[in-house]
Amino acid sequence: MTSKSAAAAARATVYGYPRQGRNRELKKAIEGYWKGRVTADTLRATAAELRRGTWRQLADAGVDEAPTGDFSYYDHVLDTTVMLGAIPARHRDAVAADPLAGYFALARGTQDVAPLEMTKWFDTNYHYLVPELGPDTVFTADSAKQVAELKEAVGLGLTARPVLVGPVTYLLLAKPAPGVAGDFEPLTLLDRLLPVYGEILADLRAAGAEWVQLDEPALVQDRTPAELNAAARAYRDLGALADRPQLLVASYFDRLGEALPVLAKAPVEGLALDFTEAAAANLDALAAVGGLPGKRLVAGVVNGRNIWVNDLKQSLATLGTLLGLADRVDVSPSCSLLHVPLDAAVERDIEPQILRWLAFARQKTAEVVTLAKGLTHGVDTIAAELAANRADLASRARSPLTRDAAVRARAAAVTEADARRSQPYAERASAQRARLGLPLLPTTTIGSFPQTAELRTARADLRAGRIGATGYEERVEAEIREVISFQEKTGLDVLVHGEPERNDMVQYFAEQLTGYLATQHGWVQSYGTRYVRPPILAGDVARPAPMTVRWTRYAQSLTDRPVKGMLTGPVTMLAWSFVRDDQPLAETARQVALALRDEVNDLEEAGTSVIQVDEPALRETLPLRAAGRAAYLSWATEAFRLSTGGVRPDTQIHTHMCYAEFGDIVQAIDDLDADVISLEAARSHMQVARELAAHGYPREAGPGVYDIHSPRVPGTQEAAELLRTGLRAMPAERLWVNPDCGLKTRGWPETRASLENLVAAARAVRAEL
Ligand code: GLN
Ligand code: ZN
Repeated sequence: MTSKSAAAAARATVYGYPRQGRNRELKKAIEGYWKGRVTADTLRATAAELRRGTWRQLADAGVDEAPTGDFSYYDHVLDTTVMLGAIPARHRDAVAADPLAGYFALARGTQDVAPLEMTKWFDTNYHYLVPELGPDTVFTADSAKQVAELKEAVGLGLTARPVLVGPVTYLLLAKPAPGVAGDFEPLTLLDRLLPVYGEILADLRAAGAEWVQLDEPALVQDRTPAELNAAARAYRDLGALADRPQLLVASYFDRLGEALPVLAKAPVEGLALDFTEAAAANLDALAAVGGLPGKRLVAGVVNGRNIWVNDLKQSLATLGTLLGLADRVDVSPSCSLLHVPLDAAVERDIEPQILRWLAFARQKTAEVVTLAKGLTHGVDTIAAELAANRADLASRARSPLTRDAAVRARAAAVTEADARRSQPYAERASAQRARLGLPLLPTTTIGSFPQTAELRTARADLRAGRIGATGYEERVEAEIREVISFQEKTGLDVLVHGEPERNDMVQYFAEQLTGYLATQHGWVQSYGTRYVRPPILAGDVARPAPMTVRWTRYAQSLTDRPVKGMLTGPVTMLAWSFVRDDQPLAETARQVALALRDEVNDLEEAGTSVIQVDEPALRETLPLRAAGRAAYLSWATEAFRLSTGGVRPDTQIHTHMCYAEFGDIVQAIDDLDADVISLEAARSHMQVARELAAHGYPREAGPGVYDIHSPRVPGTQEAAELLRTGLRAMPAERLWVNPDCGLKTRGWPETRASLENLVAAARAVRAEL
């Protein structure tokens, strides 16, 4: 290596790695600790072993600089709250008495103390614990975890870079603590917070950190001038500290936009930017500010949140351009690899021809190392990798899985009329009223009934071959009989079959549609110890055979009351899966919508008069920046209408969403053109009904009157009071009575009592009309 190329050597790095371990050892150890079966020491030892394993794996793969501090027992934002001493008063004693038990109490609550609220980490499916701050918050530095993990990695002989949530993002993610005025802005605490970050940086420097990474993903969202000023001030002050490591400020998930010039000017030594498609504008923006002279640029060219192999040639071209824009260019995935599964190589059920298209954390790490090598030593040194990559990409592009001519022809032939019901809402509403003959304030549920241990056993028995398909179907039918008979006895008006056959509302459909792949080990952290295995949308989507008709028809055969068909909508089918990156999302959504349309039409054909298409994810997929939202909402609502637009006017289409604050997408909800919507509302005291009314929403709606997230049984009076509140915002002709969401996580005893009370409340309020 010449001295010139040594000076320019690109380093391979990552910002974070899956925490769980190969066999989800972390989940098992933590849950064992909660149950008292695993001691704190054993849990700590397991965690340390997992961290060591990760660092070894990274080092063996050729990563030059490994992250530390990204490990977490539950959530890295919660770790930051602990690091900053920002523990809410109600948890302080418990944390002081036993830091580990207190930490989990912050995350999960105890019998007497409420946990921190949990919410989604930007537009990923990872959830973090929301910091609670107020004017009285006092920050104190507790760098113990960060320092200890840095020393562990250094002890293994690694070059390590601690990764911290940055101060601006931390404050922007926070909310006013309970009892603090709702308009309190956590960002006003910045001046108080910076010295504490200063102390932590000094501790890390003393422990041997040359570089520290401060993650500021909040800066990729639309920010006010005041917020951008705060970012400028934060990095001016941290940059001015004497006793500190070099600072790398990282952003990901979107372009940095107006924050780019702010950070480019800041007295920090490096920036990490996302250069994947979603943030491609970073490239031009970087050139426009004159690059980063004198600074280190970490280029996130490998997508850290999809599961597809990288186009290495294209990444090298991007990196080549970037070489002219910074002093030194290093290579990384675009964000922490927390959002992807660990290792594609352990998948046994995916054909080798398809497996080669997939890159999980381990494969992405290898890609980053290859790119850094190519950048440093020339493309000739990675010729074999480039050739293999080219072949993998070509195999994907020409595979019949990714290109199904019939699906493409059908999607291309879709007209605007296909996505429109044959009659306007008002006419449909009267046709449906005549057909269904429901009372005022009709009662219904959201779809699922308790998923009992027997049902899970039946599924496990089926998988293990202990029972056959017929045996399994008999158990499902027995459950449906029970659910229908309970609903009839209780007096619900529109019944459901209870979804006993579904393991999960997305997976169930993914398993029956072409174009979807399932993984055996593709676990991704959703929150805490909860991991999900999102299906992979790999190819063109079609529905070879009906998916739900059999169960709905069976349920309907048991009763004279209408049984609601129950499907997961196209947007949610995308949002809770890994999506393909070789065509626009809108196109994938359209294919899924057409497959669902077949199902909707078949349900109608089988005599179903009410069909619900759930879209709980409609809002969570909203682009991070306002600029992208109109386009998103346009294809998303079109996909929903396409799936439901083929039915008769007197077939009633329901939809369901699980959030209470949707003021910003009420127009989109209107654009779905569903006949009835059910929404979460119990905790927000029917806020939803007022928002719908304020918008002039013309359709029927069921704001939930039973909070299913709690085992608590709502009393009849309480549910009736919520209904009366709803009636102050909406006329009785348009108000439905239902729980907030499905009942699959509840037990039968509380479900029975709650639904009896819900029906009693509807009857009581009807009598007042
Ligand atoms: N129909 C689904 C159920 O009842 C809806 C679940 C959801 O909204 N997340 O479980
Ligand atoms: Zn829901």
